Amino acid sequence: MRDPVVLSGRELASEVRKSLALEITATAGRPPGLAVVMVGDDPASGVYVSMKEKACAKAGISSSIARLPGTATQDELLREIERLNGDDSVDGILCQLPLPGHLSPDSVASAILPWKDVDGFHPVNVGKLWRGEEGLFPCTPVGITAMLDHYGIAIDGARAVIVGRSNIVGKPMAALLLRRHSTVTVAHSHTPDLQDLCSTADILIAAVGKPRFITPDFVKYGATVIDVGTSRTADGLSGDVDYEPVLEKCGAITPVPGGVGPLTIAFLLSNTVAAWRAARIRG
Ligand code: NAP
Repeated sequence: MRDPVVLSGRELASEVRKSLALEITATAGRPPGLAVVMVGDDPASGVYVSMKEKACAKAGISSSIARLPGTATQDELLREIERLNGDDSVDGILCQLPLPGHLSPDSVASAILPWKDVDGFHPVNVGKLWRGEEGLFPCTPVGITAMLDHYGIAIDGARAVIVGRSNIVGKPMAALLLRRHSTVTVAHSHTPDLQDLCSTADILIAAVGKPRFITPDFVKYGATVIDVGTSRTADGLSGDVDYEPVLEKCGAITPVPGGVGPLTIAFLLSNTVAAWRAARIRG
């Protein structure tokens, strides 16, 4: 059997970011604008927000951060979204998750104008995704699909198993693969015989949030294994896949870090640029 391919998200993310930067430089007029709303001072969220800010600056996207205190009310948060909805220099809006427990992420997702919804969480974009229409779709699954294409991994006709059914990863991942003619199964914490199910997958996507949950027994020989998980452990950042032993058995695998993570930010920039292009066309 040939050596497994290590799927580098860093490499593809860098290509995507360069091509967006070129497009922005070559286009006259105002640059794309991304507004990030952050409520409270969760340190991990702070790190993600500053990564997004730096990535925007590098690509030539103008970014702003609207910081609200952790005590902000739902009304105050919605008023901030409303203000950004009305700001013509803002093409994309995202609200950094998780929100403090008293705030509803679903209301926020529905409040952002669908054409500024660069996280792809608005019900209109969710509907478009499942209907096979154009729209803004969640960055992590879009990035994973682009990576499968980039490495020439067949999606059409593949049997895909996704472990995890979140609105951010599992469900949109299922919709994207279904659109591309995979036969998709979405597994979750109530799925019986998970190991047997996973071991039928040509493409196995783990979005569970449990370090090293996917061991070689879950993996078919030669399968493509995509590890979305990022858990902080005493040994550092850990994915959902027990990497070294699974590497022996699979055909292709994403590392953690350096696999899916960089693609999420690259495709957030890509969604922002797509929203900016659409705004230019609307005039
Ligand atoms: P989430 O909302 O916590 O969902 C986890 C999913 O895993 C749920 O659907 C849950 O099932 C399922 N699950 C939990 N235990 C299970 C078990 N024993 N067997 C089968 N399924 C099980 O997670 P998420 O937001 O999708 O994130 C998943 C992981 O990806 C996290 O580590 C997160 O940090 C990471 N992540 C990384 C990126 C990136 O850019 N790299 C982006 C997003 C997320 P139930 O629905 O039945 O509870």
